[in-house]
Amino acid sequence: MAMALARRSKNLYSCGVLRYSLSLTSFSRGFASAGSDENDVVVIGGGPGGYVAAIKAAQLGLKTTCIEKRGTLGGTCLNVGCIPSKALLHSSHMYHEAKHSFARHGVKFPSVEVDLPAMMGQKDKAVANLTRGIEGLFKKNKVNYVKGYGKFISPSEVSVDTVEGGNAVVKGKNIIIATGSDVKSLPGITIDEKRIVSSTGALALSEIPKKLVVVGAGYIGLEMGSVWARLGSEVTVVEFAPDIVPSMDGEIRKQFQRALEKQKMKFMLKTKVAGVDTSGDLVKLTLEPAAGGEQSTLEADVVLVSAGRSPFTAGLGLDKIGVETDKIGRILVNEKFSTNVSGVYAIGDVIPGPMLAHKAEEDGVACVEMIAGKAAHVDYDMVPGVVYTHPEVASVGKTEEQVKALGVEYCVGKFPLLANSRAKAIDDAEGLVKILAEKETDKILGVHIFGPNAGELIHEAVLALHYGASSEDIARTCHAHPTMSEALKEAAMATYDKPIHI
Ligand code: FAD
Repeated sequence: MAMALARRSKNLYSCGVLRYSLSLTSFSRGFASAGSDENDVVVIGGGPGGYVAAIKAAQLGLKTTCIEKRGTLGGTCLNVGCIPSKALLHSSHMYHEAKHSFARHGVKFPSVEVDLPAMMGQKDKAVANLTRGIEGLFKKNKVNYVKGYGKFISPSEVSVDTVEGGNAVVKGKNIIIATGSDVKSLPGITIDEKRIVSSTGALALSEIPKKLVVVGAGYIGLEMGSVWARLGSEVTVVEFAPDIVPSMDGEIRKQFQRALEKQKMKFMLKTKVAGVDTSGDLVKLTLEPAAGGEQSTLEADVVLVSAGRSPFTAGLGLDKIGVETDKIGRILVNEKFSTNVSGVYAIGDVIPGPMLAHKAEEDGVACVEMIAGKAAHVDYDMVPGVVYTHPEVASVGKTEEQVKALGVEYCVGKFPLLANSRAKAIDDAEGLVKILAEKETDKILGVHIFGPNAGELIHEAVLALHYGASSEDIARTCHAHPTMSEALKEAAMATYDKPIHI
């Protein structure tokens, strides 16, 4: 089986090389010549979708301009999303460990304190370094960078109000919309980014709130709730749905919620916010059961509204050129990321699909490769999802609920981290690995990992899914000892046969 896989990957590689050389000749005829002011590719938006698309286009020899209104590159992800949140998750985890776990490991401090400005400073430094790094990559790859707000004049022209106050018209044979998403509020709630904050405000609070209410139990709300809970806030999560992170495998979700409850986060599920009163010193929320019923109140120093994100196309002039969107404003594209308007493409959070940075990046590369005449494809079923709490939750493929709904006969293999030697050695053994495989063929359908570093461990499973591997393929692959990855191997053994260590 492993040999077959290796042969397959070799073939794929050589096919890739062949496609590449063919496409180089085909696109060099159709694209802009040096000196022309028309670009081969114009990208509107410099987030993970846009900046990656721009760099890839330039690497393929296409004359490329990227337009970004923010003044810094990296989009939501680098500026107010993935990176600052992971910086604070790491710093707050270190504080929490120092306070609650170090003594058990024989490391003692007379006292441990939070220096919030220093913590925020480290986060800001990480963001600044990374966003500047992308500017460096633009220079290295000769991507032309225009700082300003882009709007369509025609399907091949974008007018840019530059951040310096001027205006420029950028022309392109192909224009990629990568304008991403923005925070979504709830009816009757006005975000002021002080006491009622979005994730952006929650990443920059100047004080640790005594009481924090998080409205919405998606991954962003739980990550930010966890940061502030570790730093000492009393955190209550209010969620309309009956479950936290509805897309998660049910069994994993239950254990995950229990773990967060042990960390003193409280959950009010099937509950909706019926009103918000900001007139007093504390924000007063009126709550009501989702199905209707008796109201109650909940007070907070800060309320984080984390009710999802909306595609962002304001001021872009989509109606001027007739680009079609769906009911919630997402730009509709075909499998080539092409909109209904010839030469205009869209990628990332602004189109349907998981709203994740790595998905946006995959979209960007594939879109540009197809513009360049190459074959490309992004399979959204293979996009891993990670919640970066502690323990982390990472998954790829189908949940058990989805497999059941498909009516596929399946096998499940599980392995608890309590039986993993590395997890025990480092005293961080909460969690499990769960694998779902098709009963008849043993082909892996989904992998769910709840545990420390799950976000790193999941990629072996992503690769396995991509190559159509069986659970036996993973089980027969030698894994280094002692590693947490051995839990994945044991779960795979449990799927097609029996694990050794339990
Ligand atoms: P964006 O990153 O939103 O970038 C779009 C860019 O376009 C923006 O910079 C915007 O200024 C610019 N723009 C918009 N309109 C115009 C215009 N007309 N002219 C010029 N420029 C324009 N995802 C993960 O995968 N992992 C995580 O851990 C993770 N954590 C997150 C944490 C938080 C708090 C948040 C809010 C999000 C997180 N995400 C995470 C989601 C991730 O940030 C997005 O999925 C990703 O940034 C989408 O990339 P994008 O390029 O499509 O759009």
